[in-house]
Amino acid sequence: DFGLIADLVRVHAAERPNSIALRDSERTLTYSALSTLMDRIASALQRDGLQKGDVIAVCATSSVHYAAVFLGALRAGLAVAPLAPSSTPASLARMQGDAEAKLLFADATTADVIGPEIANGIPRIALDSSDVGRDFDDWLAPAGTLPAKVELQPSSPFNIIYSSGTTGEPKGIVQGHGMRWSHVKRGERYRYGPDTVTLLSTPLYSNTTLVVFFPTIAFGGQVILMAKFDVAGYLQLAEKHRVTHTMLVPVQYQRLMAHPAFDAHDLSSFQFKFSTSAPFGAILKADVLKRWPGGLIEFYGMTEGGGTCILEAHLHPDKLHTVGRPAEGSDIRLIDDEGKEVAPGCDGEVVGNSAGMMVGYHRQPEKTREAEWFAPDGKRFIRTGDVGRFDGDGFLTLFDRKKDMIISGGFNIYPSDLEAVLRGHPSVADATVVGVPSELWGETPIGFVVRKPGDTTDPAVVLEWSNAQLGKTQRLAGLYLIAELPRSAIGKVLKRELREQHARG
Ligand code: ATP
Ligand code: MG
Repeated sequence: DFGLIADLVRVHAAERPNSIALRDSERTLTYSALSTLMDRIASALQRDGLQKGDVIAVCATSSVHYAAVFLGALRAGLAVAPLAPSSTPASLARMQGDAEAKLLFADATTADVIGPEIANGIPRIALDSSDVGRDFDDWLAPAGTLPAKVELQPSSPFNIIYSSGTTGEPKGIVQGHGMRWSHVKRGERYRYGPDTVTLLSTPLYSNTTLVVFFPTIAFGGQVILMAKFDVAGYLQLAEKHRVTHTMLVPVQYQRLMAHPAFDAHDLSSFQFKFSTSAPFGAILKADVLKRWPGGLIEFYGMTEGGGTCILEAHLHPDKLHTVGRPAEGSDIRLIDDEGKEVAPGCDGEVVGNSAGMMVGYHRQPEKTREAEWFAPDGKRFIRTGDVGRFDGDGFLTLFDRKKDMIISGGFNIYPSDLEAVLRGHPSVADATVVGVPSELWGETPIGFVVRKPGDTTDPAVVLEWSNAQLGKTQRLAGLYLIAELPRSAIGKVLKRELREQHARG
């Protein structure tokens, strides 16, 4: 069972031409208009000499045109490398070169970051009316032109996504059409269909967004793209368009639930809300379940595709501290430092196997080998670098990334345990814990807290309160006030930055 998402756009256009497919703050496109635009984009790409398997890069803010270019490239048999505009110009240039993109789509919002380095002489096209590249309308093939048909298999590249770069430089991951199709198949369970209205406020370059974007389109639903998330704007759109599905990262849930007007909005149209990409606290999940209609689904996985765990939180209110159970077709196991599977109930590094996992990091065989683990029977797994433990019912509790684990005086400290204690203090809005070098202990934990608005509690008070609840070997060596935790564009706490900041003093 395998199909192409771009083909489905044409089916929807024939069946329900006037249904809305895509919406942003400036435009709406019906399925008929999207299908025509997709064909014109695909034809223009082929006219420019791009062939099956070639890569185009997009570095832009989410928009209807961005989404159409993604689908147009797929229709022409090309792979898309969506690049994060929040990257540094140097990192962007590296990714663009790594992907060997032949064409770059950009817009006014990314004009500053796409310095001359990233162009590398490749042609650029502006998705809006700005002067970052050739005019989009001018570039398109004439209306009515149909692209040449291209044969694609499940292993044909769909996109090259760069990992979030939370622990180092982003790594290029080639995902095939088969992997995207597996998300579409999962869509039936989440009742995607022509009446679906999905609101997305995370960027289109992230897998987080794409795991919901493509199923919505494949089932003929509507996607509303928010260029930039803000709490009030999100709630307004959700209510106005009777949104049924959404994907939000935990920090967005946190901000929404803290908004004074949250409960005044009519959100009764929601059927499913999704979350992924970062730890989602059990207390926050419970709050979402209580105050926001519809189901709550958490995915745990990584761009590398080594399997997924799914928590259907509304069905398992007693398992909110977990990330759920392995999805169908995912084999998730735990290994120790020697690379042996741990005994049931023990902690270990999470490794995963699934049909859709990456063949390897793009042009980085060394990094690929480091990320692989082979079971005694030869089955191949991808290492996540995350530490977890299964309970007796097969639900996975996730602790921390191995790189964030603190080894202090020979004891393993999970920062997540300490963060949970800090967040329990009434004046703390957000908290994180990192390990820093210590002469005495090797490493020692320090904390960073964001106070609730208007709160003036001395951090020394919070430190004393927290340490009183922590075991002797877990105690925080220091606690610092911070206005906001440094986060990536999709809401991951950048512990790397905090450690570096602390080292600089
Ligand atoms: P990099 O690999 O470049 O350092 P990254 O690992 O953050 O960046 P992604 O592939 O986007 O890049 O993220 C996968 C990671 O995100 C997982 O390994 C895990 O640490 C974290 N993660 C994903 N889903 C969840 C979840 N539901 N709960 C907690 N953490 C999660
Ligand atoms: Mg990773």
